[in-house]
Amino acid sequence: MIEIDGRATSADGSLLDACRLVGADVPAFCHDQRLGPGAHCRACLVELDGRVVPACTTRARDGQQVKTGTERLEAYRRDLAELMLAEASPQGRVKETLAALGAVGDRYGKLERPHRRDASHPYLRLDMQRCITCRLCERACADVQGQFVFATLGRGAKTHIDWGQQPFASSDCVSCGACAAVCPTAAISDVDRMRAETQIEEHVVQSTCSYCGVGCQLELHVAADDVVRIEGADSPVNHRQLCVKGRYAHGFARHPDRLTTPLLRKDGALTPVSWQEALAFVARELLRLGGRVAALSSSRCTNEENYLVQKWFRAGLGSHDVDCCARVCHAPSAAGMRRSLGTGAATNSLADIERADLFLVCGSNTTVSHPVTGARIKQAVLAGAKLVVVDPRRTELAQLADVHLQLRPGSNVPLFNALAAVLVEEDLLDRRFLAERTEGFEDYAKFIVTKRPELTEVLSGIPAELVRKAARLYGKALRPMQVHGLGMTEHYQGSEGVMLLCNLALLVGAIGREGVGVNPLRGQNNVQGAADMGCQPDLLTGYSDPNDPAVIERFTRVWGRPLPAQPGRTLPKIYQSIRDGGVAGMFILGEDVVQTDPDANRVRADLASLELLVVQEIFLSETAKLAHVVLPGASFLEKDGTFTNGERRIQRVRKALEPPGQARADWQILCELMAATGYPQTFQHPSQIMDEIASLAPQFAGVSYARLEHEGLQWPVPNLEHPGTPILHRDAFPQGRAKLMRVEYVPSPSLGGSASKLLLVTGRALEHYNSGSMTRRSKNRELLPEDRLQLHAEDAARHGIRDGDRVLVSSAFGQALGIADLSDEVAPGTLFMTFHFPESGANNVTSNVVDRLADCPEYKLTAVEIRRAD
Ligand code: SF4
Repeated sequence: MIEIDGRATSADGSLLDACRLVGADVPAFCHDQRLGPGAHCRACLVELDGRVVPACTTRARDGQQVKTGTERLEAYRRDLAELMLAEASPQGRVKETLAALGAVGDRYGKLERPHRRDASHPYLRLDMQRCITCRLCERACADVQGQFVFATLGRGAKTHIDWGQQPFASSDCVSCGACAAVCPTAAISDVDRMRAETQIEEHVVQSTCSYCGVGCQLELHVAADDVVRIEGADSPVNHRQLCVKGRYAHGFARHPDRLTTPLLRKDGALTPVSWQEALAFVARELLRLGGRVAALSSSRCTNEENYLVQKWFRAGLGSHDVDCCARVCHAPSAAGMRRSLGTGAATNSLADIERADLFLVCGSNTTVSHPVTGARIKQAVLAGAKLVVVDPRRTELAQLADVHLQLRPGSNVPLFNALAAVLVEEDLLDRRFLAERTEGFEDYAKFIVTKRPELTEVLSGIPAELVRKAARLYGKALRPMQVHGLGMTEHYQGSEGVMLLCNLALLVGAIGREGVGVNPLRGQNNVQGAADMGCQPDLLTGYSDPNDPAVIERFTRVWGRPLPAQPGRTLPKIYQSIRDGGVAGMFILGEDVVQTDPDANRVRADLASLELLVVQEIFLSETAKLAHVVLPGASFLEKDGTFTNGERRIQRVRKALEPPGQARADWQILCELMAATGYPQTFQHPSQIMDEIASLAPQFAGVSYARLEHEGLQWPVPNLEHPGTPILHRDAFPQGRAKLMRVEYVPSPSLGGSASKLLLVTGRALEHYNSGSMTRRSKNRELLPEDRLQLHAEDAARHGIRDGDRVLVSSAFGQALGIADLSDEVAPGTLFMTFHFPESGANNVTSNVVDRLADCPEYKLTAVEIRRAD
């Protein structure tokens, strides 16, 4: 025990921690729990057994006697405060604290030192005259984000923080806002904070980010029925960190483009109508079409809403034709992992990032697509973990990697077989794990030795010795953790590629324990949840088998209706059925498939040929423009519910605002549609929908809103006492033993006859999200105003293209326009393009080739030609 001002407390951590525990009022300007002790500001001086010491860097030890408010300390602090005022003009909490310490600011006059002002960035404002050089910004940037934008320059009174010669907007800043969030003087602030200071904040609501599948927790600061600023909440997912989308891209919520009334097509034009008229029209037309209807649910919407969509279509309208955008991203992860391991979801948790000693990052530009997770991996690598990156692009993580396997697009299967071959050949195996937990090793070993890297380098383009080096790193690591993205899944052999990732983990026993595993990084915020809820044609809520008699009995009892007899179709097959005269009506919730699905010209034609297209949306998207009826839904800021992130964590979404105009929460609209089509529901709140989900899905049996209140729960949660499951397969796999899969390479049809063409890979940029409907309606558009086409200088020169030129990209499927971005991040022969802007039409060129097992489109490989646009 330790005594602080006569009050006893435990002696864990620093003296500052102990002072905070007993509530002693010790000022500290450079302290942040995530960053460890700084000892830059010297404000936290305390008396320890008669000596004056900084509390943040002094360890608390049993028996210590500490005083925090003696006259001597007050004099020291006042003197320190006077010096700070001589150097700077701090605002914010530092200004208030210095005044409370009795500093008046004229004792030392004003000391001259360099200071800059900068307003070049759309979100951040810098006025370094206010800076007290506490260095929190520099440390948050480096130690949380791993970005190193700031440096402390000068000596003595000239010490100051700087970011190089350029305007701040041209620095390496990734706009995460961590610097503004920690700055105690408002030397670095952001436009949201400055706006919030002019308004009276009414309340703060904790919710879950609606962009990517990391699932960061947000504090929504609300004033005058608007979110005026967003801060990162303290949660195991993001530890208060956010990215540029989660923190700043909320301007869409009150954008004038929001849909505020139902629209019905009359005389060819979408016309505002009452809810009554819109609902009656939709119900009449859906019932007229009988079971010839299909639904595409939304990974942007809540679990409860996704559950309702598939319940409505299956039990209410008699169609299993229900799918979601998992089809176009991680369906191969689910399919591949289910075949190998028995469960198609991430085996481990984000917390394992800090436990791993090696990362195998495959087909994931993590710092761009999952920025907060990417920053955590970066930090772990900077702290000493090894890193192997498999990616056709030299991504930010690839630049940090011990080994970058820059494979030819489409050669995942030969490369991952080659890595496994090295593990077997060089006996880098966990033989006990293989004997006790897997099946088929002997046959697999005979197969895999024929895939040695020396035999497959011609396919992947990677020298055998580099493959061996990567395999040795993975095989010798104690806790090798895999993460993978859409570069693994969006291929002709996507599911099979994921099985090969599972093989690697099984060979070295890296499943079922901390710091390891196979971990798909889910793309959209609730793509995990949409699949969990049964928004896929062949599986019901909780991955229940619609052909199992016990399942049929359970669902029929709870839903009060029989399940459809006909099996359902995946989204690509739904499109095919539209062309074949089968599906005649579609309901699309919150997905802009015309912009985001491949072969967009054909998607547009298919949807335009429907007898009925109903789109429930927040903006008039490219898809909504084709609809017969558009129903105005609510954004995540305007409704209650839950999202499930990529580590299977079910987290609360809480309403902070009213939906604009006549827009309504999507779950309410769905209940009204169900009632209008003769299948009324009794739900008054999403928590009741979750209760029904828990009654049907064994993985959710122990889930309730009361239990989700704080950090959420990671499924499976089999009963109300169960704490959730951070790590899957600890003791057994669902099917007993895991399977080592033998996969032969089959070249993609996308490559056929493409010898002279370039290979296009599509993906995301940091600043925007998917169709960009939300981020384009925020100041993120100033950060990235158009889609970029990355190409190597050799390819550019061969085609007479210069940096910044408009480039026409052509494939067998259509044409797109991109702005040339000459970059050595791509190898000669490979192009990369984002798809956030409808004007570019990136998905006009992507192909209709799909994964052989999961029907996921091959976005990551299209043979194209390019030329400078006139
Ligand atoms: Fe939102 Fe993903 Fe950014 Fe987190 S990392 S703030 S979940 S977009």
